[in-house]
Formats: sequence, structure tokens, C-alpha cells
Amino acid sequence: MNAELIVTDILFGQSYYLRFDPKLWEAMQPYPPLGTLYAASYVREHGYTVALFDAMLAESEDEWGILLDEHKPQYAIIYEDNFNYLSKMCLLRMREAAFRMIQMAKSRGAIVILCGADATDHYSEYLDKGADYCLLGEGEETLVELLGKLSAGKEAGQVIGLASPTTLRPSRRPDISDLDKLPFPAWDLVDVEKYRSVWLKRHGYFSMNMVTTRGCPYHCNWCAKPIWGQRYNSRSPENVAAEVKWLKENFAPDHIWFADDILGLKPNWIEKFAMLLNAADVVIPFKCLQRADLVNEKTAAALANAGCKTVWIGAESGSQKILDAMDKGDHVEDIYRAAKLLHDNGIEVGFFLQFGYPGEMWDDVRKTLKMVRECAPDDIGISVSYPLPGTKFFERVKLELGEKQNWVDSDDLAMLYRGPFPTEFYRVLHGRVHYEFRSWKVLRRPSLRGLLNIPRNILGLAVSELRLRKYVRTVA
Ligand code: SF4
Repeated sequence: MNAELIVTDILFGQSYYLRFDPKLWEAMQPYPPLGTLYAASYVREHGYTVALFDAMLAESEDEWGILLDEHKPQYAIIYEDNFNYLSKMCLLRMREAAFRMIQMAKSRGAIVILCGADATDHYSEYLDKGADYCLLGEGEETLVELLGKLSAGKEAGQVIGLASPTTLRPSRRPDISDLDKLPFPAWDLVDVEKYRSVWLKRHGYFSMNMVTTRGCPYHCNWCAKPIWGQRYNSRSPENVAAEVKWLKENFAPDHIWFADDILGLKPNWIEKFAMLLNAADVVIPFKCLQRADLVNEKTAAALANAGCKTVWIGAESGSQKILDAMDKGDHVEDIYRAAKLLHDNGIEVGFFLQFGYPGEMWDDVRKTLKMVRECAPDDIGISVSYPLPGTKFFERVKLELGEKQNWVDSDDLAMLYRGPFPTEFYRVLHGRVHYEFRSWKVLRRPSLRGLLNIPRNILGLAVSELRLRKYVRTVA
């Protein structure tokens, strides 16, 4: 390609590299940066030419450098995928990558703009590294106003929702409430065939991502909301069904991952959505997140009718004491009921579990283990409590934070504050829960590999249980 022929106003990028996150690299379920694609299509609708550097499948930041040289953009915009929960955690390796990307763009003379959870929470660090502007919270409208000012040679300091080296007290812009007005994400910028080939090779099907909402109105006190705060906006079922149809006609995915915090919170949303998909004959198997207390007979049946294959529930703990301490707002019985209803409707269930919340003792841990045994989820995801800036939980433990305040990657599992037990306890517990989970799973769904692994899992379970009990005795 002749680099001289490329004329691009804006090069978009993001700093989450699957390559730098060993656990998720191993799982290999890549999705393009949806939030970045939304921003790209939004500014393109306002007349700018755009290109995309997709870090998700890139080898390193060097590829960003190559695209900067090819496109010579006036604006280099590192716009994180705010729908990717990992971008909330500020993984150190990704922050390092963002800093390096800023320097690479600055050294080539581009105006550098950042948007994302970490850049919102710690904008001065990004400005210190050379960024010209940080978009605080939801970025699209702020970005278009900023680009308008800069392109007209005007001062941008007063743009709402913007931090810059000259802004003394940046303010937040109200969110976009009519999400149906947004253009569909700029999928044409993505190498869709590369994703398809990775998915097919590894999993035998091709999954694409979508979102139907922005934000969440609940108050779980460890859950950070740097982008949308407590607000919650939803697309209409008609608008989402139209995008499903569009995706099906253009890319024929075998599966969709709805990356919302909660799919279908509004009354009758899922029912209407299911009806529209069926009427248009565009039912595609999908995976989504739900709160346990929102699953009832009607929603479970409607989810199945819409094509839902898997629902992940933020179960967190089997101890009501811990759910209450988290301000989770639901009950252990809700989790049991939701898992049963979903299973009864032929939907697989995933549980997110969280260990190490302040006050969680061995007794509480055992209640969680019991819940997993009795509810028999089809998959589990385990983490330890992670103090995210801006949360009540962070405020509660901030005096106990050690020197290390972030994980390096998503497999770190370090306790960042003085929890009930040390980090090593939780790493052993992580293994123990998986050993037991796999042992039960193979009894429910026998497979040759699972059966061959039974001795290993039982031995791992026994050894890790002994190690955990030793920790428990030490603490007691
Ligand atoms: S329901 Fe989920 S997204 Fe909403 S506050 Fe709780 S953990 Fe966060």
C-alpha cells in the first residue's frame, strides 16, 4: 500500500492487548473494541475520516506505530472499549501500553486524546505522559465538540467533559440518553475475517459483540462506574433487533455476546426483543449478563425464546452477610431460583464469584462452595475483591492498600488490601473451587477428557483443601 495515498483525520486505538493478558490469551475469546467502534462511527457521521488500530489481536504497541506512520493522523485517539469490564481495572500492563502509545503519537506530531475509565480516574497522569486531552466519562459528544473547536482553530478549554493541562476543574457532561440515535458501531474498520478465523479455529463458531444499554442503576459498592455513574440508558428492542438483523446479513455470526452490565432491565424489554427477533427470523444464540433477582419465569422463558444460550450471573457469594456488606441488593435464594429457572428453560448458567470481601471468613467461603455445588452452574469465573477508585469499598479499605494498587493482568488475583486471608490463600482457593467444579461437572456431563482428569482433580481438591485449612488455623 502506498502510505502517501492515505488521508485520515483520526486514528483510533485502544490499549487492551489480549497478547499482554496471559489468562485471556489462553482462553482466546477475542472481541473487537466496541466502545471504540461506536466513537469511530459517531465522529465519522460528523464528517471526519477515521481509521482503527485494533490492539485486541495486535502483537505489541509497535503496530500502533506502523499505523501512525501510514495514516499520519492529525488526531491520535486512544479510546478504550468502555464496554470491556477489564478496562475498568486499570491493568498495569495495559496502562503502560497506553503511556507508550501516547509517546509514540506525540513524537509523530499528532494531537493525542484519551478516553476510558483509567484516563477518567487518573487524567493528570495521562496528561503528564503527554496526552493533550482526556475525555471524562462517556466520550462521543465531548469528542465531537472538541474536534470542532480544534479544527476551527478555537480554544477548547471550556468544552464540558474535558480535562487538559489548562483546565483547572474539569466537569462531567450529561450522558447520551437517546441511544437509538447513535449510528451502529463502525464494523467496517475491523478485520472481521481475522476474528472469525480465530473463533472458528479455537471454538468452532464465530461470536460477535453488541450492547443494548449503557450503565447500571444498582449500587454494589465495589463496582466502579467511572464512565456512566449511576445512570442507565437503554436502546429500544426495535433498534437492537435491527442491528442483530444487520449483523446477520453482513457477517453471519453464529453467536452474540451482549456485553451489557444487565440485559433487559426495563419491564418487558426481553419479551418484546424476543418477539421482534422471531418475527424477523434473526434469532441467534447469545450470551448475556443478568442479576439473579431479575430472573423470573417470564424473563427466563423470554430469554430462551430470544435465543439465549448462556446467562452469567454476578452471584459473588453464597453468604447473605457478604451480599449485604457489598450492598448487592439481592438474596442468596435469588441466585438459587435464577439458576433453576434458567436451567429449566434450557439456558446455561455462569456464576461470577468473588472472594476476599472484608468480613468474609472461612464459614462464608464454605457457603459459597455449597452454593456452587447445589446450583450446579455450567461455568464459573473467580476473582478476589478489587478496590476500584471511586467506590465505597475503595474508600473503606484505602488505608490498607499496599504499594501495589493494581493488577498486572487479569490473572494476578493479588489482594491489594489487608483482606481476611493473604493472597496465597486466594490463589489456592481459586484452584480448589475449580478442582471441585470440574469433578462435579464431569459427573453431570461426562467427556473423555473430563474422565481422564478425575484423579488429578480429586487430588488437587484434597491437597488444596488441606492447605486452606492450614491457613484458616493460622488466622484463627
Ligand atoms: S448490578 Fe452489576 S453492574 Fe450493576 S452495580 Fe451491581 S455489579 Fe455493578
